[in-house]
Amino acid sequence: MQYLSTRGHPDRQRFCEILLEGLAPDGGLYLPESYPQVSEATLAKWRGLSYPNLAFEVLSLYIDDIPAADLKAICAKTYTAEVFGTKEIVPLKKLEEGVYLEALSNGPTLAFKDMAMQLLGNLFEYELARRGEELNILGATSGDTGSAAEYAMKGKKGVRVFMTSPHGRMSPFQQAQMFSLQDANIHNLAIQGVFDDCQDIVKAVSNDLDFKRKYRIGTVNSINWARLVAQVVYYFAGYFQATKSNSERVSFTVPSGNFGNICAGHVARMMGLPIDKLVLATNENDVLDEFFRTGVYRVRGAADTHETSSPSMDISKASNFERFVFDLLGRDASKVKQLFGETLSKQGLFDLSGDTAFEQARTRFGFISGKSTHADRLATIRDTFERFGVMIDTHTADGLKVARAHVQPGVPMLVLETALPIKFAETIVEALGREPDRPAKFEGIEQLPKRVTVLPADTAKVKAFIAAHCA
Ligand SMILES: *Cc1c(COP(=O)(O)O)cnc(C)c1O
Repeated sequence: MQYLSTRGHPDRQRFCEILLEGLAPDGGLYLPESYPQVSEATLAKWRGLSYPNLAFEVLSLYIDDIPAADLKAICAKTYTAEVFGTKEIVPLKKLEEGVYLEALSNGPTLAFKDMAMQLLGNLFEYELARRGEELNILGATSGDTGSAAEYAMKGKKGVRVFMTSPHGRMSPFQQAQMFSLQDANIHNLAIQGVFDDCQDIVKAVSNDLDFKRKYRIGTVNSINWARLVAQVVYYFAGYFQATKSNSERVSFTVPSGNFGNICAGHVARMMGLPIDKLVLATNENDVLDEFFRTGVYRVRGAADTHETSSPSMDISKASNFERFVFDLLGRDASKVKQLFGETLSKQGLFDLSGDTAFEQARTRFGFISGKSTHADRLATIRDTFERFGVMIDTHTADGLKVARAHVQPGVPMLVLETALPIKFAETIVEALGREPDRPAKFEGIEQLPKRVTVLPADTAKVKAFIAAHCA
């Protein structure tokens, strides 16, 4: 399998070449040259496989530069009941006739990002050992991504993590999750500033090419293709749990921010998984809902980006969206380059409403969308707890609220549960008047010793810290 850039760069790359990279050299995102097709016979063979074996089958269609036995061992080591809590890895919970939650958040940090990040940690360790190289991951986080990355990379040979976060601004639980890690290869940098300061520092360091090369700086952000392809697996796993035969169709609703999770659903659908609708749910930051309703993609400014009670969906633009637009426009790379390279930076928006391709977003690609607000989240959390005794987090509540408007008789609707309520306790207390359930292994983590260095919002200070800790 070869990978190309959505902006038309002539070079083709193989999986392990793009594994440790971010953007393509022309600023585009990597996608496979074509989507491998999964026949009825293959689906029949896959139904009944354990999660790690299913992951191996899906991944091996996209990865041909890791020997099969090694890839199989990596999948087996990643997706264990010990790490993810059950042998199903992503168990389905029925709420009522036709409506299910697919649990993606029972990994080490209690958010769906573990599903991909745990695999990425093992792939990085494998590939770096094979090359005899090291990598220093520099990131910025306001919560879920940073902790998922740290739990995936802790103790891994050849990898160090330098994770910046805004000092004092994450929830106490999120701070405790990250700062209680005592592994020598994990470095928490609490920056005296806001999340944007952290992102600016990461950008400034990455733009210093000499420093980047000398200290082998890399990232693990959501545009990484390996993360995306790992997420394709649970669409198959959800489908097999919700259906009895491969002639049935299901729909998925996905609480969305950067369009990474639902883009994996799009890939699964393009491969031939019988998905009827992909329902995209946003919170008040409705860039994507606006696009699927109107055809206008309008990037928000800082003043227009709301801080909400589903913070992992608080985005001003969706970093994976370019992948879908590439497919929507019939893989016309020059048009994508024009829209994302020029039109967006000049005008802050592009408009596909008059384009026949836009109509296909719904018809050919199955996308529909909806939006949820703080009041909707509270009502959905309350209703779900009262009627089913199930406590859901704020992001999953956005999904469930939007899903309810799109349930079709005879088509199971699978809502992806993207985090557990304990991560967002304040809103659960607001909705239910009680603290969320806490998994036993997280009892008392706020009291554990913390390993964190507080630094001013100063790129030079962060660079000096990295240099001093890259022995
Ligand atoms: C990251 C995240 C999302 C958004 O996922 P995208 O892939 O960015 O669309 C939704 N919910 C939770 C809990 C998350 O951590």
